[in-house]
Amino acid sequence: MKDFNNKVVLVTGGSRGIGRAIALEFASRGADVVITYAGNEAAAVETIKLLTDAGAKAQAKRFDVSDSAACSAFIDEAMREHGRIDVLVNNAGVAIDGLLMRFKDDDWDKTLDTNLKGAFSLMRAVSRPMMKAKGGAIVNVSSIVGEMGNGGQAAYAASKAGLIGLTKAVAKELSSRNIRVNAVTPGFITTDMTAALNDELKTKMADAIPLGRIGNPEEVAKAVAFLASDAASYITGEVLKVNGGMYM
Ligand code: NAP
Repeated sequence: MKDFNNKVVLVTGGSRGIGRAIALEFASRGADVVITYAGNEAAAVETIKLLTDAGAKAQAKRFDVSDSAACSAFIDEAMREHGRIDVLVNNAGVAIDGLLMRFKDDDWDKTLDTNLKGAFSLMRAVSRPMMKAKGGAIVNVSSIVGEMGNGGQAAYAASKAGLIGLTKAVAKELSSRNIRVNAVTPGFITTDMTAALNDELKTKMADAIPLGRIGNPEEVAKAVAFLASDAASYITGEVLKVNGGMYM
């Protein structure tokens, strides 16, 4: 299915993990893909190779999504270079864990600035070209933790819950211009972000998931591409759980 032929898709944090799988899913469906990353150049280069091997036109751009001027510059550059932006996926994120009593201001700021302000800055910047084009789709990658909370993840939970509210507000604001804004809330997915957890904890978590296993990035990618596709043409402001039934 080449339903994204001639479409331009931007995926923040598209160099690794869930973002890489999202970029590859859109590429397999015909899109030109621009991935972004913060610092791990080797991973970005590897992803570009995978995307071009899949037959896609692909580019990687490095900037920090918590820098709002850099977000605006990225959108302007993408418009100059591609002439259109059909889909924005706000996937870049960090998880800094720690108990409330000991949590540092800097870690709070970094988590909120990356996970929430980054998505805000990019949506604000992309809204202009999408409004001019009278169409577009935005998908924000939130988390199950934003829906159910998790001890030791106060900042992460706040950022991801905030992203759900932001998604719904922007969905209402941009709907009259045929711009759809949705979110996915992945559960426990195998990536670098979760690799650090020990095996005992992983087994315990898998046991708590009705489908009995940890998810993979491709399963999140398919949900993201669905929300961005014409198959979801009457869906906006929605939050799609991709969690194996862990939270219903
Ligand atoms: P990951 O493997 O750690 O990859 C994170 C990506 O985001 C990388 O491309 C990274 O770039 C980029 N990034 C991080 N901080 C950035 C910044 N300040 N500016 C620009 N790019 C930045 O993460 P993941 O597990 O795939 O998670 C992707 C998204 O899914 C995140 O929003 C995460 O919160 C969410 N999520 C993950 C899970 C899970 O179980 N893994 C569950 C629910 C939700 P560099 O490589 O250059 O640092």
